[in-house]
Amino acid sequence: MKKFTKVLAILMVITMTACLFASCGANTGKEKSDSITITEGKLVMATNASFPPYEFVGDDGEFAGIDVEIAGLIAEKLGLELEIVDTEFGSIIGGVQGGKYDIGMAGMTVTEERKKSVNFSDSYATGVQAIIVPEGSDITSFDDFFNEDGSVKDIKIGVQQDTTGDIYVSDTVENGGVGADHVIQYKTGNDAVQALVAGKVNAVIIDNEPAKSYVASNEGLTILDAVYTEEHYAIAVNLDNAALLEAINNALAELTQEGKIAEVVGKYISD
Ligand code: GLN
Repeated sequence: MKKFTKVLAILMVITMTACLFASCGANTGKEKSDSITITEGKLVMATNASFPPYEFVGDDGEFAGIDVEIAGLIAEKLGLELEIVDTEFGSIIGGVQGGKYDIGMAGMTVTEERKKSVNFSDSYATGVQAIIVPEGSDITSFDDFFNEDGSVKDIKIGVQQDTTGDIYVSDTVENGGVGADHVIQYKTGNDAVQALVAGKVNAVIIDNEPAKSYVASNEGLTILDAVYTEEHYAIAVNLDNAALLEAINNALAELTQEGKIAEVVGKYISD
């Protein structure tokens, strides 16, 4: 009996150690052990298709944009069929973390905070935050959000909820923002821009390329200088799915080498 207990204890230790390495019980986001995606043969990408030129719904009702095309090329390299799910930006990371989507691709900036929830691929693009204001606005730079004494003016800034623009500008003045009281969050970048057109906010802070697209498609708006530092866009992958992350990074490296990434970017961004 004593011997039996000892054997049992050893067995338990072995199982626990094996579990530690194989992350037993963790959600790997995989259905089958031989598939690197949730559903075999498919690559499910969560995005927020209100972020031109990275992702938007074209006139033909189809998803289009830099991320959509790059994801298509990656899927092709991996022999997978791309499926796109359009969702709120703020639910993409949770969905990837929870094994609902294989990847999150939405002009998504790599941040230390997000890295706690998902892994990021190598970066494939960069962006900075830009300020959009109505033409002729009194606001001509970030400094114009403030009074002479350093307090924030009686203004409202529109942002897309949960984006880096939202996170930075909602932060305290000491930390480089204007404080959440001066920020109105919208579900999409387009909603924020429409609020600006309607005069409900004084400015919108959003990534520079979408800013250019919105200014081109809405009369009477203009872009001020970029604010905040350069951000790196990457693809979010489940923390436990190292195989998919590696496959994506390899595909991205090949696509870069073949000039395909530059080709896609050049199709949507001319300067
Ligand atoms: N780059 C920004 C971020 O990651 C905005 C992305 C977006 O709105 N789709 O937060």
